[in-house]
Amino acid sequence: MSTEIRRYIRSLGLDAYVVGGAVRDELLGIEHADEDFLVPGVDQAGLRAALEPHGRVEDLEVHGQLVGVRFHPRDGSIRVLAPAGIELTPPRRERSTGPGHRDFEIVPDASVSIVDDMARRDFTVNAMARRLETGELVDPFGGREDLERRELRTVGRESFAEDPLRIIRGLRLVSQLGFTLTDETVRQMQSEARRLAHVSAERIGGGQAADGLGELSKLLLGRRPAAALRLARDTGALVEVIPEFADAIGYQLPGGRQPLPLDEHVFAVVQGAADGGAKLAVRLAALLHDLAKPEADRGDGGHAGLGAELALAVMRRLRYPNVLRDEVARIVAGHAFWLDAPIDALFARRFLASHGSALAESLVALKRADLGAKVVEDWELEHLAELERLLAEEAESPHRLSDLAVDGDDLIAVGHREGPELGAALVRLLDHVVDEPAENDRDRLLELARQWLA
Ligand code: ATP
Ligand code: MG
Repeated sequence: MSTEIRRYIRSLGLDAYVVGGAVRDELLGIEHADEDFLVPGVDQAGLRAALEPHGRVEDLEVHGQLVGVRFHPRDGSIRVLAPAGIELTPPRRERSTGPGHRDFEIVPDASVSIVDDMARRDFTVNAMARRLETGELVDPFGGREDLERRELRTVGRESFAEDPLRIIRGLRLVSQLGFTLTDETVRQMQSEARRLAHVSAERIGGGQAADGLGELSKLLLGRRPAAALRLARDTGALVEVIPEFADAIGYQLPGGRQPLPLDEHVFAVVQGAADGGAKLAVRLAALLHDLAKPEADRGDGGHAGLGAELALAVMRRLRYPNVLRDEVARIVAGHAFWLDAPIDALFARRFLASHGSALAESLVALKRADLGAKVVEDWELEHLAELERLLAEEAESPHRLSDLAVDGDDLIAVGHREGPELGAALVRLLDHVVDEPAENDRDRLLELARQWLA
């Protein structure tokens, strides 16, 4: 895919370069979904004028700053390859807007060279460009060598001070690519981590990027989130982003079931969720599921209920979408279930009835990761596997009100009154058929409903 879009952009005669993450991933042999292109010698208006004959051109804004254009080619065969459009930018430089070194904006400037545009980027491996016309690689900061060493190194000493989000971007790349940080980069992170408190929450959490994912989400979705989270802890970035982690660091739980300190336990669970291919909601739940343990140990609340409240607060602050936030809170609230009861079809149906099938699946995924990070007995893992098997087997058994063979109107027809009691009667019928699926028969349920009236 990338080669065709590159060939097309080249055919426009702009002498464009493909830049940043796309070049990094190309050298790593990884597919890069949305490639960015840099067009030298133009400003915003010039870029527009050059592209308008070939399709529709929209202004591209990132965090309220105009950074270039999103281009929708008229050529249908290219449009299907890039349905969201192709991002092209003029060269840009940082312009000071005040006395502090953080007071700057990034502005298009036709006179800026490719090398200077690379200089404002975050890491050397992200500061490379490839000229489409010749295939030449522009690599002013040794990005290629760092890539071979699998190391992340900042382009400049002030990089994190200028934009502290780059700290989380770096940790995200650690998780995604399995890279390490140079010692100097770790030191820079340590000394600038406190600035993360001033970064807008969307850029870290919920995300305003086209993919809707902030850097923390991308970190969790990577292959090695535990390594990245350890670095986040050791550099101080973790507590800046999620102050609720402070009490968990080094917190030792009583008993031998969970020998790791709470922070290490949490990292291991997140890693287990990643190894199991879990979705973002489960990985976020893994990150937050036990953070209320220290508080619960001090008081008398259950750690799962307190944890769900904590998860809501963290995700609200990080501007995650409400739907995801509520899903994560439900996973955290439900995660502490026991597996010591007999795991049979009835257990599975009740589990489905209280959680629904999607949440049930997430709870199993989190439990597997959680058990994997604890000292557990074989039967616990066997029971979990059995629960998973039975949840699939019982998926079609009635477990929702909508599965009942009768509805509220049927109950009114046999004499029930509208109102809360009607709802309660339906729930009671559901409990009944969850226990006895064969009883989910219209006549039988109406008979029960009549009996309950008498
Ligand atoms: P991915 O596309 O997989 O999220 P990426 O490295 O391409 O990774 P983008 O957000 O697409 O990340 O950014 C494209 C390029 O822009 C980066 O490779 C980097 O060169 C530069 N860049 C992005 N964000 C920053 C930043 N906060 N500071 C400096 N440079 C940045
Ligand atoms: Mg990219």
